[in-house]
Amino acid sequence: MPGAPQTERPTSRSRKLHPRLESVFDTVVTRNPAEREFHEAVRGVLGTLGPVIERQPEYLEAKLVERICEPERQIIFRVPWTDDRGSVQVNRGYRVEFNGALGPFKGGLRFHPSVSSSIVKFLGFEQVFKNALTGLPLGGGKGGSDFDPKGRSEAEVMRFCQSFMSELHRHIGEYTDVPAGDAGVGEREIGFLFGQYRRITNRYESGTLTGKGLTWGGAQVRKEATGYGCAYFAEEMLRTQGSSLSGRTVTVSGSGNVAIYAIEKAQQLGGTVIGCSDSKGYVHDPAGLDVELVKQIKEVERGPLEDYATHRPGASFVPGARLWEVATEVALPCATQGELDADDARKLIESGTVLVVEGANMPCTPEAVGLLREGGVLFGPAKAANAGGVATSALEMQQNASRDSWTFEYTEHRLVEIMRDIHRSCYEMSGECGVPGDYVVGANNAAFVRVAEAMLAMGVT
Ligand code: NDP
Repeated sequence: MPGAPQTERPTSRSRKLHPRLESVFDTVVTRNPAEREFHEAVRGVLGTLGPVIERQPEYLEAKLVERICEPERQIIFRVPWTDDRGSVQVNRGYRVEFNGALGPFKGGLRFHPSVSSSIVKFLGFEQVFKNALTGLPLGGGKGGSDFDPKGRSEAEVMRFCQSFMSELHRHIGEYTDVPAGDAGVGEREIGFLFGQYRRITNRYESGTLTGKGLTWGGAQVRKEATGYGCAYFAEEMLRTQGSSLSGRTVTVSGSGNVAIYAIEKAQQLGGTVIGCSDSKGYVHDPAGLDVELVKQIKEVERGPLEDYATHRPGASFVPGARLWEVATEVALPCATQGELDADDARKLIESGTVLVVEGANMPCTPEAVGLLREGGVLFGPAKAANAGGVATSALEMQQNASRDSWTFEYTEHRLVEIMRDIHRSCYEMSGECGVPGDYVVGANNAAFVRVAEAMLAMGVT
């Protein structure tokens, strides 16, 4: 029907909505037309909240679900800048301040051509729950731009970041909103952004941005945290089965920040990581990846993963194909959203995969998650498994606030404790909800209760 909102209808494998949440979801779809990713994220969470809604009907009376689905504030702005040839370019910037009940809005900035209102809202919504799971004082938000840093000179990236911050600085601060990096925004971009923030505000407010360089307020382990945390979460999940990563084959999609450090920690925990990928294809290295070589190619040279196979006898690069066709016991999707679909899930089930843990944000489609559940594959959702990054950002904020800096060992020790706590609260909540080992239900309900209780205490805000 022309003009009708594009409704993300539940797929046959989506969990059934609690009858009292159906109209909530319909309102989200009507109010946010054509925002497929956002609908999918909301549908995914609402489909699991039945147990807590039954137990605590006061949440419905206070319209907490409706309030949690509506961002507190959404900012969309023009980002004009000049390229190296002197031509003016125009991009669009976003910051969605989704929920601040537990602390300042917190979440990354993504620079990628696919960034849209829907993507930022989906990421911001997920971030609210993820941050709640850490147990730290963090609200949830997300931002970014459709700017593509690929192929841009350093000077172009700097000018873009300066223009982006010229608007963003009005909305952020250590007690209001604390952005960080995400895909396309690493230490270099955070440096340009912080430089412009400091210049405009005339304040050295380290706690306004996280992901900073180690010599100017950054935290040890931040770079490694999301990937390491994902591997630790996988280890904890296997421990509940009396098992571990040790001696198991592992594949990790992507070869960016999250993937590289998931590979490194999975190897340190005794796994053999036999494949990783980038947007052009995947590498298969049956002897186990040389993670230092992956770092050299992707972090230092910023080159294509294809180069790996030319340096490493026994390894092959398969262009244009998905890593999930490689048989593995453990799969860690760490590249991007929607990268593991129903066909991929079937291949993993057929090849005997026992565990899938999400390092990226929502890399598995809802269909794939349903199939994995039905196929008896243990599944760790992103909002729990990749929370190590934001948790370490909170540790960076703590160090900034106390003008202190901790060692790598101490910070990693804190990260491990946080990942174990997240795992424990998801696992215990899954039991309380009557589905022990269903980490999706466990994570969503545990996180929802934390946010809902804080909102209840603060009245109608
Ligand atoms: P990066 O930009 O560093 O890396 C992304 C990687 O994924 C690149 O290697 C890219 O390849 C690859 N890639 C992109 N699309 C595909 C695809 N379709 N198939 C296979 N590989 C692909 O991002 P991050 O590692 O920082 O982030 C990855 C994911 O993790 C994102 O979803 C992000 O939101 C999430 N995340 C990141 C956190 C962090 O701390 N960095 C924290 C929490 C979540 P190429 O090099 O060819 O572009």
